[in-house]
Amino acid sequence: MKLIDEFRDPALAQQLVESIRGVATRRWTIMEVCGGQTHGLLRHGIDEELRDVVELLHGPGCPVCVTPTTVIDHAIELALRPGVLLTTFGDMLRVPGKHRSLMQAQAEGANIQMVYSPLDAVKLAQELPSTQVVFFAVGFETTAPATAIAVSQAEALDLPNFSVLTAHVRVEPAMEAIAQAEDCRVNGFLAAGHVCTITGYEQYHKLAQRYRMPIVVTGFEPIDLLVGIYRCLQLLEQGSFDVVNAYTRSVRPAGNLAAQEILQQVFVVADQPWRGLGEVPLGGLILASKFRGFDAVDRFALERTTVAVEDECQSGAVMSGRIRPTQCPHFGSRCTPQSPLGAPMVSTEGACSAYYRYSNLVPLNTSPAS
Ligand code: SF4
Repeated sequence: MKLIDEFRDPALAQQLVESIRGVATRRWTIMEVCGGQTHGLLRHGIDEELRDVVELLHGPGCPVCVTPTTVIDHAIELALRPGVLLTTFGDMLRVPGKHRSLMQAQAEGANIQMVYSPLDAVKLAQELPSTQVVFFAVGFETTAPATAIAVSQAEALDLPNFSVLTAHVRVEPAMEAIAQAEDCRVNGFLAAGHVCTITGYEQYHKLAQRYRMPIVVTGFEPIDLLVGIYRCLQLLEQGSFDVVNAYTRSVRPAGNLAAQEILQQVFVVADQPWRGLGEVPLGGLILASKFRGFDAVDRFALERTTVAVEDECQSGAVMSGRIRPTQCPHFGSRCTPQSPLGAPMVSTEGACSAYYRYSNLVPLNTSPAS
């Protein structure tokens, strides 16, 4: 607890706010690409406190939110098939597909079980040999290694009744898609600390130089976020397009090599449709040919998702920083956490849920979340 308290120290937070004000000669626009950071910024009132010197845009940092509705519909379709058990993490259950969520489908008889790890799904496949157990795998490079381990273990066990419906995505290509958009207003990025713990950050140098945007690897606590913003503004004011690691207690330049190795064994990089961004070149991970037998899309003859269809939810505009959640006409009226129209309102990492939950907090509130 001592460690956490140090990163929520109100006096240090105030000093950092003053340093940020001292370094900024104009108002800059920075995008964080991590839903945990978005919630941290809103929960602690950092966005409001710094509003006059920095505009904080919230990027596609919520993997649940960028999953196309067609993939959720595939998951529902599988869960309704006789002899199939669909397993997934709890935060996917309330995310709306085109017509309903997994939880609503469950009430109609769909066979769905929440798991805490992909390995729980492998265990279920061992225990239920006459049931096809499908793990619905969503997430960035942080969760993909666990999926890779599960697939690798299912192969070692020669399990014929285990498969994965994958929607794993890669963060760096999405940052590039945002940076190269004609209407991009981003001056610098706060890179996601947890993703960089796996991937490292050496690959960001090319991106920073090509688009002339500094990138600061940043954590989630209030002091982490303020240091990340401060370092990013420092670089912007110096005219430097460098990459800086402000989350050194977790991130190494080359990342977690063991996690990268299992990812490379099980997955290959592929173009991937992202909700809100369209098809992102090299933006996803699909199973390598050796493991294709575990791909639920092939096993159950589903149509592979190639486009992310937009609907009345304006998550695309929110996640690319074109509008704030509160500018969506449905925010707080037709769309609430109790009755969400889109994933950003229901996911624990979604920007809309952060605005709904924290918009009444006072600026620079460093007390723990309720
Ligand atoms: S407020 Fe609701 S409908 Fe609007 S973008 Fe957010 S999740 Fe989608």
